[in-house]
Amino acid sequence: MHKTKDKLIYVFGHINPDTDSICSAIAYANLKQVKNLDNYIAARLGEVNKETDFALKYFNIKPPILIEDVSGKDVVLVDHNDKAQSGKGIETAQILEIIDHHPITNLTTKLPIYIHTEPVGSTATLIYKKYLNYGITPGKEMAGIMLSGLLSDTRNLTSPTTTKEDKLVAAALAQLGNIQGLQAYGKKMLQAGSSLKGLTPAEIIGLDKKEFNFNGLKTVISHVNTYNHKEIMAKKEMIIQALDTYLLETNSHLGVFAVSDLENISTILIAGGESKGLIHKMFNTTKDIITINKLLSRKTDIVPNLLKILEQS
Ligand code: MN
Ligand code: MN
Repeated sequence: MHKTKDKLIYVFGHINPDTDSICSAIAYANLKQVKNLDNYIAARLGEVNKETDFALKYFNIKPPILIEDVSGKDVVLVDHNDKAQSGKGIETAQILEIIDHHPITNLTTKLPIYIHTEPVGSTATLIYKKYLNYGITPGKEMAGIMLSGLLSDTRNLTSPTTTKEDKLVAAALAQLGNIQGLQAYGKKMLQAGSSLKGLTPAEIIGLDKKEFNFNGLKTVISHVNTYNHKEIMAKKEMIIQALDTYLLETNSHLGVFAVSDLENISTILIAGGESKGLIHKMFNTTKDIITINKLLSRKTDIVPNLLKILEQS
């Protein structure tokens, strides 16, 4: 056993946390506390966004504690497994467990660990399965928190990553959380996060941004949701400029800004950087602004197709 009874074990999701990362950390730490299994505490690696803030307030749950450096800590990773998406000092942290729904990228561990990954729409879906495994029925608040993570990642059960199991789990959680009309709740939560009022173009790009290194190709992919494309498209010149600035500042080769319209089910992509030709190739176009008539997932559409194109070139 590589854990000590009194040492705190931090449960956290990825940097630039989204609702799934925050809510999965809260619900999993709670499950461990209910089971009285060591000293687990939910943590976060960044600011709580407006969407997550809505969910936390709705169910009257405090945000997890903010930690900046995870060196030497005992940790459980939820909603990520890539060390580049994790906390500062993760190389010297003791990873005890991973619960995730992302592809396994560059994972190595010093000791044997527990890993639970499944190709489902949210980590929250898997956390609920942990409750079932442990024989614990989540209370109203925890059910609501898990439902929020699930509805956020699946864009209210409409994203291409949504599985049958996500839908079943969402229905079960809505019942446990006493939420009538779960998609009405999901819409309210997503709308709380999709308001771009008062944000600068750089802040809009930073809302849900992930950075990747594909064999030396430094890539930034930002994905935001809206209920009306018009608001954001009115600022498109400024967003292109902010994306270019960010790519220059970070010495990145490729930038993608995607905005999904959840009302009209479409996605607009803006490609930037010296390697934007890869995105042109992906969508068979020469345009930098591309409209697709469906919702796209960064994880199952954009990243895998980009990797495919990179392999071919
Ligand atoms: Mn996430
Ligand atoms: Mn997730």
